[in-house]
Amino acid sequence: MSDAYTVIVIGSGPAGYVCAIKCAQLGLNTTVVEAWSDDKGKPVFGGTCLNVGCIPSKALLDSSHKFAEARDDFAVHGIDVGRPAINVASMMKRKNKVVTQLTGGVSSLLQHNGVTVVQGSGKLLAGRKVEVTHADGTKSVLSGDHVVLAAGSEPVAIPPAPTDDAVIVDSTGALTFDAVPKRLGVIGAGVIGLELGSVWGRLGSEVVLFEALDDFLPMMDAQVSKEAAKVFKKQGLDIRLSALVTGTEVKNDAVTVSYTEKGESKTEAFDRLIVAVGRRPRTKDLFASDSGVTMDERGFVFVNDSCATEAPGVWAVGDIVRGPMLAHKGSEEGVMVAERIHGKPVQLNYDCVPSIIYTHPEIAAVGKTEQELKAEGVDYKAGSFPFAAIGRAQASGETDGFVKLLADAKTDRILGAHAIGPSAADLVQQMVITMEFGGSAEDLQLMVFGHPTMSEAVHEAALAVDGMAIHMPNKKRR
Ligand code: FAD
Ligand code: NAD
Repeated sequence: MSDAYTVIVIGSGPAGYVCAIKCAQLGLNTTVVEAWSDDKGKPVFGGTCLNVGCIPSKALLDSSHKFAEARDDFAVHGIDVGRPAINVASMMKRKNKVVTQLTGGVSSLLQHNGVTVVQGSGKLLAGRKVEVTHADGTKSVLSGDHVVLAAGSEPVAIPPAPTDDAVIVDSTGALTFDAVPKRLGVIGAGVIGLELGSVWGRLGSEVVLFEALDDFLPMMDAQVSKEAAKVFKKQGLDIRLSALVTGTEVKNDAVTVSYTEKGESKTEAFDRLIVAVGRRPRTKDLFASDSGVTMDERGFVFVNDSCATEAPGVWAVGDIVRGPMLAHKGSEEGVMVAERIHGKPVQLNYDCVPSIIYTHPEIAAVGKTEQELKAEGVDYKAGSFPFAAIGRAQASGETDGFVKLLADAKTDRILGAHAIGPSAADLVQQMVITMEFGGSAEDLQLMVFGHPTMSEAVHEAALAVDGMAIHMPNKKRR
């Protein structure tokens, strides 16, 4: 009887705590092992996402956006606030309060659902046993019918720019600056570089991003990446492509960065430097060599499509397994695993995981990019619609960007959706729902979209797929 199963989840980030809550809801006897503790020795729940990731970064993005709006955009609406000043300490206090509220919320939810919490570092041993090393160095051993590894990820370090938690920092350090750096360098123009570069750029930093690749945001649809580069340039983010940092020298609370740009050696001085070159799975000391768990060639815990490892009864979810390192992807893997342990063969649809960059405007995507469809030889139709032609976007002065839809030329099914612009994240979520239901461009064409809304860009993009947009001259006709 599955209800008698005992489940041990190692890690309480969005993958682990959601899995634990779901297991408990399904009547499974569930324990979470969490290593993170605060300065009073209390367990810290929520992992990277709630403590040093999604939530604090979005709190700072929202604060800095309001500041930039007050400074740059209010006047045109007839609102005179003079020259706004930023109080970094207050902004950080608010961010910390948001984090505390949410991590406290996870703690209450675990308790409410009857999940047992064990403080300490968990290591999977053979036979689904978990050895926990507690803060005082003592050890205990738990035994589960099922074990779920959800240990998450950590920032990648690079030898030319070792972090010192003061001048050269990783994403965690960049969430706690006590003043706005005059000049801010960022290594890596990926998601974290753009989000945290935007935060400090809006507050007044001169931001330079060093990106090793020749292309900007190569994983996004190329049309979106091109528009994003244009918008960020207008916002003052100085993005250097083909720029490889070769060394750093920290002196007098500042750093000199040596780098090569398109082969030419250069140096540049900054007050602070953020290293944001990616994250790697946190697998050190997570499982014993005889546990049966294996890793793939990139160091991720090896799992099949349903997150089962090679060891019977051992599962792995979230950032420690293949796929995008996204909180919502990990959470839904946690739900899938809980359901499977309970006996229901639920399967997560990895083709419908949205990804979002929370800059302003937002950038969001789900499904295939146009370049992927071309490379795969798929016969497709594309339609895009600019926010500049959307009444609501004009009314709010948010006219940068567009929505783009890609549909199968034969079946008309939506294969990909891409947006840069106001509420892009929420608009793309509409496309996640459409794609999950196997929806077509015609389905969207025949639906009623509220007016005036940003969603009308989705409607018009669907019409544009067949050259039938109403509020723009069409290049092609059905
Ligand atoms: P984690 O959140 O890393 O949690 C793992 C947990 O396991 C931690 O609490 C850790 O202490 C614990 N642990 C590790 N090893 C052990 C052990 N041996 N024993 C016991 N406990 C252990 N994603 C989004 O989807 N949207 C965003 O907007 C977003 N913004 C981000 C912003 C930043 C700055 C960063 C750094 C990341 C962001 N991410 C975002 C990514 C997101 O945070 C991760 O994808 C997500 O947190 C992964 O969840 P997880 O549960 O797999 O791991
Ligand atoms: P990333 O992979 O998004 O970007 C890293 C960038 O650094 C890449 O463009 C890469 O080419 C570049 N790079 C790598 N080595 C370099 C070097 N030596 N010099 C210069 N550039 C170099 O990684 P990230 O921004 O660190 O984010 C880590 C993970 O966290 C991502 O996988 C992302 O999914 C997740 N995250 C998600 C969100 C979100 O969903 N909004 C926000 C933040 C982080």
